[in-house]
Amino acid sequence: MGTNYDVVIVGGGVVGSSIAYFLSANPDFDGSIAVIERDPYYTASSSSLSTSAIRQQFGTAPNIAMSKFSIDFLRQVKTRLAIGDELADIGLHEPGYLVLATPERADAQRAKNRVQRGMGVDAELIEQVDLARRFPWLNTDDLALGSLGLGSEGWFDGPGLMQAFRRKARTQGVNYLAATVTGLTMASPGKVGEVVLDNGERLAAGTVINAAGPWSAGIARMAGAELPVVPSKRCVFVFETPARIENCPFVFDTSGFWLRPEGQLFLCGIPPVREN
Ligand SMILES: Cc1cc2nc3c(=O)[nH]c(=O)nc-3n(C[C@H](O)[C@H](O)[C@H](O)COP(=O)(O)OP(=O)(O)OC[C@H]3O[C@@H](n4cnc5c(N)ncnc54)[C@H](O)[C@@H]3O)c2cc1C
Repeated sequence: MGTNYDVVIVGGGVVGSSIAYFLSANPDFDGSIAVIERDPYYTASSSSLSTSAIRQQFGTAPNIAMSKFSIDFLRQVKTRLAIGDELADIGLHEPGYLVLATPERADAQRAKNRVQRGMGVDAELIEQVDLARRFPWLNTDDLALGSLGLGSEGWFDGPGLMQAFRRKARTQGVNYLAATVTGLTMASPGKVGEVVLDNGERLAAGTVINAAGPWSAGIARMAGAELPVVPSKRCVFVFETPARIENCPFVFDTSGFWLRPEGQLFLCGIPPVREN
């Protein structure tokens, strides 16, 4: 006989584990929750490979609203995800994002800044001449301006956040199962009835949540649905330099290139021109 859960979450990365945490912390919910995660080491999960940076400087209101919620939560993680006296430290730094714009992109950047300011985002537009003065290590030759977030932007320990969600969810009664979801059976059209695991177990589920990240299209297909989610390769590089840059923000170049400090080192990357 199979096991029953009110909610089965497929994927225990930061999304699946945060859903498990928030749902199990909700006083209006008293059901049972299982998270199915095939890799307890999270070797290939986005959540353990992420650059773990957060910004407020988006161009649309929903993205800004989500990011505001997130930074408020990240500031409270220490106590919200504490277990007993053990605080959850995710090393949040908030030195801001410096988003650069060429003359061709300057108007679009100004328009974004108006949306951001309208939603209470503290981002300062800095014209080229001041940019060169305030960031002497930056080559400003092809730039028109930069937009500097004055707080609520930076980076943190992303894998640490995922583990903190997971640990806290477990103390709140969530059951993590190390298994691969291989199939979904339908109770009725559009309603999943059972989650089938590679160990032969079948879990009856009231609700199934697809939190399989880059693999979520495959999970959706098991229920006969098409999700437009396609994995996309990204590379992050580490370098060191004898130069010391005090209070270096997350720098987002107009080319898509980005860099940020990580201790004494730097991380950087650029979106690939062509996927391979
Ligand atoms: C290089 C890189 C840099 C990034 N930088 C940033 C950044 O700076 N800021 C930012 O906000 N975001 C960033 N992201 C994006 C961010 O990391 C992801 O949005 C986030 O981690 C997604 O979490 P997730 O839980 O949805 O997916 P994942 O962490 O991938 O978790 C999905 C889980 O589902 C499991 N799974 C899949 N299929 C099955 C199955 N059949 N059965 C059981 N389990 C299954 C997998 O094992 C995996 O653990 C970055 C991502 C990458 C790759």
